[in-house]
Amino acid sequence: MLAFDTLIAARDAIRARKISSEELVRQALGRIDQVESNIGAFNSIYREQAIAQAKEVDAGKRTGPLAGVPIALKDNLCTSYGTTTCSSKMLENFKAPYDATVVKLLENAGAIAIGKTNLDEFAMGSSTENSAFKTTKNPWDTSRVPGGSSGGSAAALAASMCCASIGSDTGGSIRQPASLCGVVGIKPTYGRVSRYGLVAFASSLDQIGPFAWNIPDAALLLQIISGRDPKDSTSVDHPVPDYLATLEQPLAGLRLGIAREYQLAEGMDPQVKTAVDAAMQQYQELGAEVVDVSLPHTEYGIAAYYVIAPCEASSNLARYDGVHFGHRTKEPVRDIVELFSKSRAEGFGEEVQRRIMIGTYSLSAGYGDKYYLQALKIRALIKRDFDQAFEKCDAILCPTSPTPAFRAGEKTGDPLQMYLCDVFTVTCNIAGIAGLSMPCGFTAGPQPLPIGLQLLGPTFGEEKLLRIARMYEKATDWHQRRPVVTAK
Ligand code: GLN
Repeated sequence: MLAFDTLIAARDAIRARKISSEELVRQALGRIDQVESNIGAFNSIYREQAIAQAKEVDAGKRTGPLAGVPIALKDNLCTSYGTTTCSSKMLENFKAPYDATVVKLLENAGAIAIGKTNLDEFAMGSSTENSAFKTTKNPWDTSRVPGGSSGGSAAALAASMCCASIGSDTGGSIRQPASLCGVVGIKPTYGRVSRYGLVAFASSLDQIGPFAWNIPDAALLLQIISGRDPKDSTSVDHPVPDYLATLEQPLAGLRLGIAREYQLAEGMDPQVKTAVDAAMQQYQELGAEVVDVSLPHTEYGIAAYYVIAPCEASSNLARYDGVHFGHRTKEPVRDIVELFSKSRAEGFGEEVQRRIMIGTYSLSAGYGDKYYLQALKIRALIKRDFDQAFEKCDAILCPTSPTPAFRAGEKTGDPLQMYLCDVFTVTCNIAGIAGLSMPCGFTAGPQPLPIGLQLLGPTFGEEKLLRIARMYEKATDWHQRRPVVTAK
C-alpha cells in the first residue's frame, strides 16, 4: 500500500522528508504489480522514467507544488514519451510528437506520471468496456464496471495505484466514473483548461479535469491545470483563483437548487435517491437553504448530446484514414477509397463506428436541419435553463449517476441503456458549466458500492463550487473509505 495515498498529504510528506519520492513511487509501482492484473486500469506504465524523475525530486532538481507525487494520465492525453492510444487499435502504435498542455503543466509542477490509463475507445462510453485492449474493473467490486470513459483513471486512484489522476469529460466521463469508484472528479467550465494535446472527441464539449480522494487535492490539481493557453483558442483568459485559499471558508446564505426534473428521472436506484436526499439534509443542517429550480429541457439532454457529440466526432475522427493518421490495413486494396474504408473498418471498434455513422448521417445533406440544428437549439434552451436556475441558487445538487456501478456486460448489448447512464451529466457539458462529483454514501449489503453526489455551478464558478463541496466533505467521512482490493 501507499504510505500516503492522497495528493497533498503525499506532497507534504515528501517535502518534510518523511518519505522520499522514490520510495512513494516504488510503492505505487509495487501496488500496480500487486493488484493491476485484477483491475486493468493501465495501458502503459513508465517504470524507469518515474523512478528517474523521483530521484530528481529527492535530489532537489525537480520542484513544484506536486513535486514527487505519482499520478496517472488518461491515455487520450498526448505525451512526447510512450504511446497515446485512446484505447483504440487505430492508435495502438501512435507516438505523439508533443506533450498536451495539461501534461506539461503537471510535469512543471513536479508531478510524476507513472502511466497512462485505459478508457472507452476515443472516450466513447460509460463503462470502459469499449476499450480495444481490455476492460477495467471496479476496485469496490471487480465484477462491476468502474464507469467510463475515464474508468482507468478512476480505478487506478480508487485502487491506490497513484495519488491522483487526470481524465477528460465530454458528457460525464470524469464525474460518472468518479461516482462509481467513490472518488472526487471535476468537469471544469468549458475553456477553463486547455484542450491542446487532448485527442478530440467532441470539441465543443470536451474538458480535462482531475480525479482525487478529496476536494483540497482536486482543487490543487484544478488550479495547476487551469488557465488560458495560446495553443487552444477556446481556452479562456479568465483569472485562475487560488482555490485552496478560500476552500475552508463555509458559505453563509448558501442556496442549493433541487431540480424538479431530476426527481422524475427513470431508472433511478432508490439507494441513490436516499443518499442524495440525505446529503441535501446534511447541507440544510449546515445552514443551506434548499430551493426548487426547474430545468425543463433536461428531458431532451440525452437526445441532443447523442446528436451533437457524434456529429463532432464524425468530423474529428475523419483524420484516422491510415494515411494522415492511424492504423493502415495490410490487405490488398484497389484504390485510396478502399484503403480508407478497410483501414477504418479494422481500426475502429463497434461503438466508435456507430457514433461516426450517427454523426455522418445527422450532418448529411437534407438532415443537418432536422438533427444537428435542432440539437443546437436544444443546447441553447438547456443553457438558458441553467442561467435562470443560477439566478435562484448557488449550485444545483443531484445524483451523478442514476445507479451505482453496474455489472460488467450488463449494458454492452444495449447502447441506449448505456446512453441513459449519462442522464444527469450531459447537460453540464452541453451548457459548458462546471460540475463535480463527490462520494455521498454507499449501498447496503456485503459488498458496498459508492454513490456519487453531483454539484453543478455556473460558468467559472469553480471557486464557490469547491467551497460548497468542501463544506459537505468536512461534515462526512465517505472520502476516507477505501476498497479492499485483492491480488488475483
Ligand atoms: N458516456 C458519454 C459518451 O459515451 C460521455 C463520454 C465522455 O464524457 N467522454 O459519449
